[in-house]
Amino acid sequence: MSDERSEISQLGEFGLIERIQKKFTLERPTSLTGIGDDAAVISAGEDCLLVSTDMLVEGIHFDLSYTPLQHLGYKAVAVNVSDIAAMNGIAEQIIVSIALSNRFSVEAIDTLYAGIKAACENYKVDLVGGDTTSSSSGLVISISVLGRAIQENIAYRSGAKVNDIICVTGDLGAAFLGLQVLVREKEVYLENPQMQPSIEKYEYLVGRQLKPEARTDIVYDLREARVKPTAMIDVSDGLASELFHLSKNSQVGVRIYDDRVPIDQIAYETAIEFKLDPLTCALNGGEDYELLFTIPKNEQEKIKNHPDIHFIGYVHDRKDQNVLITKAGNIVPLQAQGWDHLKH
Ligand code: ADP
Ligand code: MG
Repeated sequence: MSDERSEISQLGEFGLIERIQKKFTLERPTSLTGIGDDAAVISAGEDCLLVSTDMLVEGIHFDLSYTPLQHLGYKAVAVNVSDIAAMNGIAEQIIVSIALSNRFSVEAIDTLYAGIKAACENYKVDLVGGDTTSSSSGLVISISVLGRAIQENIAYRSGAKVNDIICVTGDLGAAFLGLQVLVREKEVYLENPQMQPSIEKYEYLVGRQLKPEARTDIVYDLREARVKPTAMIDVSDGLASELFHLSKNSQVGVRIYDDRVPIDQIAYETAIEFKLDPLTCALNGGEDYELLFTIPKNEQEKIKNHPDIHFIGYVHDRKDQNVLITKAGNIVPLQAQGWDHLKH
C-alpha cells in the first residue's frame, strides 16, 4: 500500500462504485447480474430474485426539522420498491436496519415504523427482518428489498435499442422544488419562530419530496398492455443523469424534446418563483422516483393513451450524443449532474 491519499470527491459517487465493481467478479452461476443496475438479479428456480438496498442518513438525505418520521419510514420503503419496479419486477419483502441514538424516544421509533407499515401495506411487501444498533448522533435507515420477476420480463439499463421510444412516467422536478420550499420555510422559521409556514400552495411539491411513491402500478399496466420495456431505470438522481446511465449501459445515444418533458403546473410556477429554470429542475432535480424506460417504436400504439406515460424522445446510434432538442430546433448537449452527496 502506498501512503498516497486521493479525494473521493474527485472520483464522485459513480466513479467510486465503478472502482469497487472492478475489484470483484461474479463466481456463482446463480449471480446473474451484480453491481450496476437498479437491483441485482439472482437465479432462483423458474423465477429470478431481484435484490436492492438503499440507505438514508440524517443530515444528508433528510432533515428531521421538516421531515415527519412517519413520512421518512414510508419514503425509505418506497425508494427501495422503486428500484425493483425499475427492473420491471414486483417487490415482495423488505429488511430494515436502523442506527439510532438516545435522542430518539420509543414513540418516535413507533412513528417511523407506522410509516414503514403503511408502505408495506400499500406495496404489499412483508417486513421480514432487520438490525438495530446505536449511532453516536444521527438516525440512519438502511432498507434492503427482495423482489421477483420472470427472467424474460426483466428490464436492464443496458437493453435500449436504436429507434426505441423513450418514455417517462408522471411529472419531473416537483420533488426537488418541494425540497426548496421546505428549506426556505425552515430558514424563515429559524429567523422568526412566530411565523407559520405557508406551504398550502406547495402541498403537491412538498408531498412529492416527503412521500414519494414507487411506480409499481406502471409495471402492472405495462404487463397488462403486453409491453416489455427494452430498458428501464427509476429517476432517483434526475432525468439527465438516468438518461446517461441508459445511454452508457446500452451503448446508444438519446435525443429528448424539451417540450415533451412533463412538468407539473405548480412545479413550473414555483421554479420561476425561485428564479430557477423549470426544465433544469426537471432534468437535474432528482428524487421523483418516476420510471424512465424505452420501448420498440411499434409498441408505442399499445400505451399511447396511458394518461401517465409520456413519450419524450428516441434512441439513436451515436452513443456520444445525448442531446436535448429545443422547441426552436436547437440541439443542446444534455448535462448530467445528479445528486452527488459525496461532494458535500
Ligand atoms: P440506485 O440509484 O438505483 O439506488 P446506485 O446509484 O445507488 O443505484 O447504485 C448503482 C449500482 O451500484 C447498484 O447496482 C448498486 O447495488 C451498486 N452499489 C452502490 N454502492 C455500492 C457499494 N458500496 N458496493 C457495491 N455495490 C454498490
Ligand atoms: Mg434506481
